[in-house]
Amino acid sequence: MCKQIDIDSVSKTYGSEEDMLHVIDEIDIDVDANELVVIVGPSGCGKSTLLKMIDGLVTPTSGEVRIGGETVTGSRSEVAMVFQDFNLLPWRTVRENVEFGLEVQGVDDEAQREQALEWIEKVGLDGFEDSYPHELSGGMQQRVGLARALAIDPEVLLMDEPFGALDAQTKDQMQTELLRLLANENKTVVFITHDIREAILIADRVLVMSTKPATILADLDIDSERPRWNRRTEIETSEP
Ligand code: ADP
Ligand code: MG
Repeated sequence: MCKQIDIDSVSKTYGSEEDMLHVIDEIDIDVDANELVVIVGPSGCGKSTLLKMIDGLVTPTSGEVRIGGETVTGSRSEVAMVFQDFNLLPWRTVRENVEFGLEVQGVDDEAQREQALEWIEKVGLDGFEDSYPHELSGGMQQRVGLARALAIDPEVLLMDEPFGALDAQTKDQMQTELLRLLANENKTVVFITHDIREAILIADRVLVMSTKPATILADLDIDSERPRWNRRTEIETSEP
């Protein structure tokens, strides 16, 4: 299997020499294509920084990140991100929010609309195409975030505590929903959380980060024999 994401001896410091914060210390991580890797670690340990380096939003101080063998130097069209605070455009409808990523990629209007509506339906928001984000619950807003990310058909999906702002019940539903959506897609996923229960429920592999500066303390395989969706349905008795 090929390494889809290759984090090679990456370090990150913020600030100037006299006021330096060493956040990440020579981290090595390989993620295979189609793997769902969850990174857990305490608040402030550098999880978002690591994810932003995979996304090309933050440049490593040393080392490099490669996606599909190519060094990441900025945002890439095969990578999509889902954020904890949803990052929806408040003045745009659900459909227009999902179209946004496609727009950026230069997809023509008609195809944008078609793909957006398809994903709105897949995430269970049929009938909410013309609603605005403020009219939706947190869980529904994150469904829009998921639809927007998946609509561009990225090879790599990066998720930064995507369910961290949701109540426990909604969080549970969204975890199931995510696994259901991914069961039919070929996606390499890096999912960040500080919730170890969430990590074990959804991951193929769990990486545990330490802090000050961050290294990888443990790299744990979660029973990879069973498909994710089946593993999840064995835990959950009710359908979403
Ligand atoms: P996490 O996502 O695990 O909570 P972050 O990656 O957001 O951690 O932050 C790790 C550390 O780096 C924190 O101490 C944070 O204050 C600091 N930090 C994050 N971004 C910046 C930045 N742009 N400039 C300076 N310090 C930063
Ligand atoms: Mg963070």
